[in-house]
Amino acid sequence: MVIHALLAASLAFTSLPAQTAADCSRVKCLALTFDDGPGAHTPALLKTFQKAGAKATFFLVGKRVEERPGGARQIVKRGHAIGNHTYSHASLPSHLDDEILEELKVTQEAIEQATGVRPTMFRPPYGHTDERVLGLADEVGLAEILWTGTTLDWQLRDAKKIKAAVLKLAKRDGVILMHDVVPQTVKVMPAILKELKKQGYHLVTVPTLLRGKGPVAGVSYF
Ligand SMILES: [Zn+2]
Repeated sequence: MVIHALLAASLAFTSLPAQTAADCSRVKCLALTFDDGPGAHTPALLKTFQKAGAKATFFLVGKRVEERPGGARQIVKRGHAIGNHTYSHASLPSHLDDEILEELKVTQEAIEQATGVRPTMFRPPYGHTDERVLGLADEVGLAEILWTGTTLDWQLRDAKKIKAAVLKLAKRDGVILMHDVVPQTVKVMPAILKELKKQGYHLVTVPTLLRGKGPVAGVSYF
């Protein structure tokens, strides 16, 4: 009896903070991703995800991490995944090798300094990429993460339209691109998460979606 009580107590204790990642080979998973932060609205977005028990992936701009290291730290602390989105939001293919390496490396340093975590994923700004960019990312230890659907939320700037776009793009094992620097996206996120959960989606990070088989440096996903 004593042993059982102890076991039950320890299980109850360990299950409090630990949120076991979903097994996406068994359940319907979707990865929501947010680019260009951390920004002024990122803390509000983190609260929304916390309340919903959902996880996301954030591709951070190095320059913005230097401006808001606390924002970057909060993302990691809340259990979300982070990636590198270059230092200055550069369109990489139009740059020289050394410039591309600099964009990626300086951002790795900024993120590691702010969060203690060194990213293993990057997302090229504007989705502009090629074999040369991918090879250079490999040198920095980064996998490339694209997306299966983009909401164009920065263009829409309308909560209802952004919600409709996300719901239309949602599909099993999908990766949806949004921006936590767009206030309307942050504002409508509680309603989006509610609807996606109602549809049976488990909202997970990109590494969880990859089922532990990635991200592998030098590989482009989605
Ligand atoms: Zn971007």
